[in-house]
Amino acid sequence: MIVPISLLAELLQALPHLRAQIYFKSSMTALSHAMEDLVLAGSDDEPLVIASFQQERFYRHEAHRYRRIADRSSQVYVLSSPETEFKNSSEHHETVAFAPEDTLSKEWHLVVLGQHYSTCLICQEKFVPIDNHDDRDPLLIDQARRFEGIWTFDREVSCKAAELLLDKILKYRPELTEKIDRARTTYNLAKAKKTRKSAASKATKPDKSAAKDSKIPNPKLSDAFTERLVTYLQSGQHKLLKAYSAIAAQERKERLINLITTAMRQSLNPQEIVEVAVQELGTALSASRCLIYRCKATDVSVKIDREFLRQGDNSLLNQTWPLQENPIFRDAVARQERVYIQDTAQDPLIVNTKFLEKTVKNWQIISWLMVPVLYHGRVLGMVEMHQCRSTSPWEEDEIALVEAIATQLGAALIQAETYANLEELNQQLEALDRTRSNLIAITGHELRTPLSTIQVCLESLNSEPDMPQELRQIMLETALGDADRMRKLVQDFLTLSHLESGRVKWNVESLTLQECVDLALSSVRSRGGVDRKLPQIIAEVSEELPLVQADGEWLVEVLSKLLDNACKFTTPQGSVTIRAQCSSSQMVEVLVADTGRGIEASSLKIVFDRFYQEEGALRRSAGGTGLGLAICKQIVAGWGGKIWADSPGKDRGSEFHFTIPIV
Ligand code: ADP
Repeated sequence: MIVPISLLAELLQALPHLRAQIYFKSSMTALSHAMEDLVLAGSDDEPLVIASFQQERFYRHEAHRYRRIADRSSQVYVLSSPETEFKNSSEHHETVAFAPEDTLSKEWHLVVLGQHYSTCLICQEKFVPIDNHDDRDPLLIDQARRFEGIWTFDREVSCKAAELLLDKILKYRPELTEKIDRARTTYNLAKAKKTRKSAASKATKPDKSAAKDSKIPNPKLSDAFTERLVTYLQSGQHKLLKAYSAIAAQERKERLINLITTAMRQSLNPQEIVEVAVQELGTALSASRCLIYRCKATDVSVKIDREFLRQGDNSLLNQTWPLQENPIFRDAVARQERVYIQDTAQDPLIVNTKFLEKTVKNWQIISWLMVPVLYHGRVLGMVEMHQCRSTSPWEEDEIALVEAIATQLGAALIQAETYANLEELNQQLEALDRTRSNLIAITGHELRTPLSTIQVCLESLNSEPDMPQELRQIMLETALGDADRMRKLVQDFLTLSHLESGRVKWNVESLTLQECVDLALSSVRSRGGVDRKLPQIIAEVSEELPLVQADGEWLVEVLSKLLDNACKFTTPQGSVTIRAQCSSSQMVEVLVADTGRGIEASSLKIVFDRFYQEEGALRRSAGGTGLGLAICKQIVAGWGGKIWADSPGKDRGSEFHFTIPIV
C-alpha cells in the first residue's frame, strides 16, 4: 500500500519541463484559500476538487469550508493522515484516510478542475533543521515553514496532478472506482494506470482543446482569483504589520525604561532621581502635566516641588496638593496599584465628589492617572499624570510604562535612601572615631597631669613624715582638687556619650521655667565655694511665662552649665543675667548673658563642638572639660529646640540663647 515516491516527484517525472519553486506556508495558505474561493464563488459547475492535507488537524481548521465546497460539487475528495477522528467516508464529500507513513503526509495538494478553468498546487514540505534552543514564537516558525512545488493555472499540469491523485485515492478506496471513472470522463482525464511506468508514458497526452484553454486562462476568472489572492496577501501583510508595530512598541517601551532607569541609577540623590523621572515620563507620554512627589500613605497633603508641564497648561509647582481629601489618592494607596480615570467628565467618582469636581475644573484635568511608588508595600511617593487639552486617552501599554517606571523609581529611591543612611552612619562613625582620638589626647593630658600631681603629693606625704603641717595641708588639697577634675571629666564624657548614643529616655513633663532656673542658680552658687567670688547674677524670669515641655533634670543641667560658664568667664566685678520670653506661639527663648571675656565671631559656632576650648584643650587655664556646651546642644536638640551663641567680640560679654517648646 505504501508508495515511497512523492506525488511531486511523479509529476515532475511525467512533465519534465516543470520547474519547482519554493513557497512559504503563508503563501501556500493564501493560494489555497484563493483557489477554494473560486469554487465557492461558483465560477464553474461541478468542478473536481482534490485536496490533500498533511495531517488531520490541518484539515480540521478547513472542514467547514470543505463542507461548503461540497455543496458546489459532488466530486470533492479530501485526503489526510488520520490522527483521531478522520476516516474514509462519503458523508459530505469523499474523505480518504491515508497511512501516516505515506509520502502524502509530507505534501500539500489542491487540484481544482472545472469545465472552463483549472488550477493546481502540488507541493512537498522542505524540512529545515530547527535549532532545539530556538525560542521564537511557534506561530512564527509555523508561518516560516517552507514547501517546494508547483502552482499553476495550466490545464495539462492540473489534469496530470488530478490523474495521479485519483490513482492514489483508488488505492485507499477501491469502492470509489465508478465515481472516479465518472470524474475521469467528465474532466477528460486518462484512465487509471496499471503500473507507474506506463502511467508516466501515457500521462503526457492531454486533451488538446483543454490544454489550449489553459494557455489563456479566462480573464474574468484570473481577475477574480488575483483579487482574492491579493486580499489574502493583504490580510497576511496586515497581521505582519500589527506584529511589527507591537514589537516596535515593546522595543520603544524597553528603550525608554532603560533610558530612565540608567539616568535614575546614575544618581544617588533622590531629588535628582525624581527630576529625571518626571521629565522623561512627561515627555514620553506627551502628558500635559506629570507630577512625582515623595509622600507617605498617611500624609494629609504635599507641596509639589517637581513637575513636567506642557506649554500652555497651568503649573502646580509650589502648590499644596491635598492627598487624604482625594479619593483617587486614597484608592491608589489602599489598593497599592494604579488608578486611571480616562474621562473625568464621565466618571461617577469625579461627578459625585465635590472636591474632585472642583480640582478637575481648576486644573482642567481630562485624563487622570495615579501610580503609587512602592517598595515592599511601603508607599514612597506617587506618580501623577494629567491630560488637560487632548482627549486622546493613554493606551494600556503607556500606562504599563508608567507602572514600570514607578517600580524602578521605588528601587532607585530606596537605593538613594540606603546610601544616605550609610553616609550618615559613616559620619557618625567618623565622629565616634574623632571622639575616641580626642579622648586619648585628653586622657593623655587631662588625666595624666592630675594623676602625676596626685602621685607626687602622696609620695611626698609618705616619704616626709616631718613635713610642716601647712605644707601637708597644701599637698592634700592639691591632690584632692586634681582628683575632682578627673572625676568631672570622666562624668561629662560619659554623659555626652550617653546623649549621643540616642538611648536617653526623656522624661518629658510640664514645667515652670522659674523653678528650674532657681534650682540651677542654687547649684551654681553652691559650686562657687568660699574662695571663688561670683559676679552678680540677675534673674529676670517672669512667673507669667507659659509652662514648658521638657525633661526637668536635663533642663536644669543646661541652665547650670550655661550659668556656670558665664560665671567662669566673667570677673567678680561683672554681671550675669538670665532672662526668658516667648519667641513664638510654640517656643520660649531663654537667654544667659554675661559681661565677661566674650567670644570671637569665628568661634561662635564651634564653641558647641566637643572639647572646644579657646586656649585649646591642652593649654586650658579656666578649668572645665570642654564638653559642657556639646552636652547642652544634645539636650536642647532632644526636646526639639535650638541653641546658639552671640557675642559683640573679645572682652565684650557673651550671650547664650536656647529654646524650649511650650506645653
Ligand atoms: P568648658 O568646660 O571648657 O567650659 P564648654 O563646652 O562649656 O567647656 O565651653 C567651651 C568653650 O567655650 C570654653 O572653654 C570657652 O572657651 C567658651 N565659652 C563658653 N561659655 C563662654 C562664655 N560665657 N564666655 C566666653 N567664652 C565661653
